[in-house]
Order: sequence, then structure tokens, then C-alpha cells
Amino acid sequence: MSKLDRIAEELRAVVRDLDPATHMPRDAARLASVAAEIERLGAAAKLLLARRAVDGNGWRGTTDAIVPEQWFSRISGCTETEAGRALKMTEQLADLPATEKRLRDGGLSLTQAAICAEGASADPGAEQSLLRIAEKGEMRHLRATKERVVTAATDEEEGRRRARKSRSFNTWTEGFSTHGSFQGPTEEVAVLLAALKPIGAEVLTNARKAREFETHDAYRFDALVELGRRAMHLDSRGDTSKKTPQTVTRLRVSLTRLLDHDDPAPGEELCEIPGVGPVPVAHAREVLPHGLLELVITDGVDVQSVVSTTRHIPKALKIALEERDQRCRVEGCDRTHLEGHHIIDFADEQLTTDQRIGGVCDLHHDLITYRGFTIRVNPDGSWTLLRPQEADDEPDERQPDAA
Ligand SMILES: [Zn+2]
Repeated sequence: MSKLDRIAEELRAVVRDLDPATHMPRDAARLASVAAEIERLGAAAKLLLARRAVDGNGWRGTTDAIVPEQWFSRISGCTETEAGRALKMTEQLADLPATEKRLRDGGLSLTQAAICAEGASADPGAEQSLLRIAEKGEMRHLRATKERVVTAATDEEEGRRRARKSRSFNTWTEGFSTHGSFQGPTEEVAVLLAALKPIGAEVLTNARKAREFETHDAYRFDALVELGRRAMHLDSRGDTSKKTPQTVTRLRVSLTRLLDHDDPAPGEELCEIPGVGPVPVAHAREVLPHGLLELVITDGVDVQSVVSTTRHIPKALKIALEERDQRCRVEGCDRTHLEGHHIIDFADEQLTTDQRIGGVCDLHHDLITYRGFTIRVNPDGSWTLLRPQEADDEPDERQPDAA
């Protein structure tokens, strides 16, 4: 048992028995700072040990993770993007002894350390001033300074290459609200903003004429939606013009929910746009008559019943599979950006069953397609990923019996 194991055991007991009411408020404040320091020291230890575990491949097999970022996100309870950033920092720290020392002293949070490491890696001369700002706890100042340091130290061509490489567009849903963020080369974002500008002005003018005075941000959002409507040839009530719309929205709704105007029990029946989130059922009733929907009725969908014997996956089966596999089919994987996968070569079997087709994430798709990994279908229908040598040991089990 290492010293770290013993401290963790002692700390677990202390936290389990902790009764905040027995401390004077002033003491509670002091102890909260002590706990924050323990948090920073724990993060520092985790980071230093993770570097060793990743360099020496010690992380493999400790969880079902298939890349270091996934492993680090599992043990930390953070996203894979955050994990990737933390692991990158472990590499940068090797050349930044002053930052590493502050981290080991419990003087930096992981976030602060990542910012200092990024700035100091771009310009080692800035390391001390970044650490001084971090010490004062001024996060906004720290971020802004790092940004200036990195920009000044980056070659323009390299900066453009990175901007291009970092392209991303994400949405996530909380309640009935969907949030979004994107990043990409400024000149390309400018195209989008230029397209929005006249529509935004129009939306704002109309609002002011109607004596509505919401924020400019709110109207910029309306302009973005209007841009989408125009691209789909919709009017503001969802009606199509004579042209055919380019995009069809899929709506997942239970039949009883759609037909019944009474409110169902919370969480019992749903109405949502898959991959985006819940929408009011009124929206479904509103857009339904316009034929812009692939409607998936959730009560009564039976994937088995739409199975075909041809190689071509008929649209109904494709939709049903996408409905069933909302996460990667591989056991223990919860990634949601999926690609279709056929387990066996259809030329051999001439049979399609819903057990043999499913969605796997991009990571698993690559392992299966390019690196010799295979899938074993378990009796309960779940999929297990087999490494190339494991598959050789059990060639028969990965193919279910022809039914
Ligand atoms: Zn996966």
C-alpha cells in the first residue's frame, strides 16, 4: 500500500464522518480552503501519475477505455475533450519546471495549470508572469494574458492551420433550450455572419415596428433561425413554399402523447428531436401536417418486424435501428456519434437481421474497419469488442446462428 493509498483511506473516513454543524462558521471557511488545497494536490498527483501511466501504457486494461483520453475521462468523471487537454498539459509540463513546481506545491488548479502551461509552452519567457497572475486568482486576466502570449508567439501560417484544425460545431440541450457553440477560421465564420447581417436587420426592424424591445442578442438568434427557414424554403409557421425542402426533421414521439391532449405523467412519454432534445408536443402537432417529418412512433416500434433479407437497408429499418441504437452498441461505450456497422459480410450469409446491424461510434468503427477488431454478439443481444487475437480464439461465437 503506497502512502497515497493510506492518505485516501484516512481522508475517506474523515469526509464520511464530517459534520459541518460542529465547526464554527469561521473555522468552516478555513477548512474549506484546506479542502480546496487537498483538491489541487490530488489533481496534481493525478496528472503526474497519468503521464507515467500513459507513457508506459499502464492505463490499458484498467477500464474498458480504448484511448488514453477515454481512460482519463473515466477516472476523472470529465469529458474526453477535457481529458485530452489535461493529458496534453502533462507533456507540456515536462519542459516547464516552474509551473510543475507550483502544481506540486498545491498552488494551481488543473484549469490554471493548463492555461499557464499553454501560454508558457508558446513563449517560455512568459511563464513567470502567468504564474504570478494565477497566484492572485484572476482567471479572466490569466486567460486574456495567455491568449495574447500565444497569439504573439504563433507564426501566422501556423495559426491559420490550427484555426482550421480546430473547427467544431456542438449543440447540447437543457430542458426545452438548446445551446450551441462553434469555432473555426475567422474568415469562414465571417461568411456566416455576413449572411446573417441583413436578416438580423430585417428581424430587428420588424420587431421595433411591432413595438417589441427584446435584446439584440435575442433578435440575432431569430435571424439565425430565419436563415435556416429560408434555406429550407419554410415560412415562419413551418409551411413549405412550392420548392421541395432539403431537410427532413425526425421527431420521436409516443402515439398516445401525440393524440392525447392531456398531460402525461412526467418522464413517461416523450416528444423529442433525436440527438437534439425534447420539444413541446404542440410543435409536433403543428409541423405534422406539412410532411416535413420522419415520424417515429415509439410505442409499438418493433425493429424485428421491419427486417429485410436484402443487403440494402430499407429506410424503415434504418430509422428503427437509429432509434434503437442511440449510443454505441459496444458494451461499456456511451459515445453518441454513430456510424452504421454490419457484423458479417452479407455476401456470405444472404441474411439481414437486426442483431447484425447497428450503430457503433467512430472510434470503434475504425478499430473494426481498419485494425482487425471484431464484434461478438452475446446471447442477450449486446456486442462485445474482441481484439484481433481474441477473435482468432473464438471464430464461431462472433457470428450468431442463422435463424
Ligand atoms: Zn463505441
